[in-house]
Amino acid sequence: MKTALITGITGQDGSYLAKLLLQKDYRVIGTVRSYRHANTRNFDYLGIKGDVIIEELDLLDMANIILLLHKHKPDEIYNLAAQSSVSLSYDQPLGTFSFNTISVNNLLESIRLFSPITKIYQASSSEMYGLVEKMPIRIETPMHPVSPYGVSKMASHFMVTIYRESYNIFASNGILFNHESFLRSNNFFVKKIIKSAIAIKNKQQLSLKVGNINVKRDFGYAPMYVDAMWKILQQDKPNDFMICSGKSMVLRDIIEYVFDKMSLNKHLIIEDESLFRPNEIQDIYGDNTKAKEILNWEYNLSFFEVLDMLIEEEIRNDF
Ligand code: NAP
Repeated sequence: MKTALITGITGQDGSYLAKLLLQKDYRVIGTVRSYRHANTRNFDYLGIKGDVIIEELDLLDMANIILLLHKHKPDEIYNLAAQSSVSLSYDQPLGTFSFNTISVNNLLESIRLFSPITKIYQASSSEMYGLVEKMPIRIETPMHPVSPYGVSKMASHFMVTIYRESYNIFASNGILFNHESFLRSNNFFVKKIIKSAIAIKNKQQLSLKVGNINVKRDFGYAPMYVDAMWKILQQDKPNDFMICSGKSMVLRDIIEYVFDKMSLNKHLIIEDESLFRPNEIQDIYGDNTKAKEILNWEYNLSFFEVLDMLIEEEIRNDF
């Protein structure tokens, strides 16, 4: 039986990945920053509460990581813990950069010194690319991040590459584009739109305030993206992969689709410049050919199909 350690297990991806690995008969260790504040609602929802071994871990404290590696001897580590919000990273640039980089450095160094056979997956992000001149974005496309979050992910991405190339560690980056699910936190765009539309329909909210909705993003479905994470660590050699749908959508079209589905008047969508980000990527979509060919990762969903599933799931579980 293989042992996997997942950091950020309480998040959207951590929870779906835990479920997938349990189905594959892994022993799953999930780390939380504090037992007292660990929100295990996602485990209840996925029916995996009690199946995951939860450990408290301060990823900024390398000694803590080393002890955990000794205790559980994981075959694979999936490093998903991060301050993951681009918007919040403008309010907390130093906290975002420090945590998102030092945590990764500590994991890599602990593996190098004390557990070199452990494989590690790093959650890299399309936000590393930022302003690009040519699309679709490919792994080798030059990076020009425009948010503290993007810079933090870029720094970690290249540390992973260095540990792979210089120390022979099995360290791989999954460069994921936006992916959504029912378990997405309420402060992220798609979840916020769907929840607000339901609240407006139920007369609990008057209107929906949004920032710049003329930008385009490449959106996918989280439960299918975590499958790619697992596949990345099952390769013979460590490597980087881009996981995306390959198409971008205007945010306005997403909102209008959700409002149409719920028979809501579009006049209730209020664009508010105070919600605009200081610097915004206009359009972004990636090339998933390498992932499809080498990982045999399959992804053919249109984001309208994903929205249909998410709206239905949100209505069914609205609480
Ligand atoms: P998420 O739902 O925001 O989950 C983030 C996880 O990180 C949570 O478990 C959170 O724990 C933990 N975390 C945050 N700050 C921490 C800290 N200081 N110490 C310890 N743990 C901390 O994110 P996600 O959507 O699952 O994404 C997983 C990873 O993929 C992240 O690294 C994210 O940046 C990256 N990524 C996500 C996307 C996407 O579209 N979802 C795209 C590209 C890359 P708490 O429960 O304690 O807050």
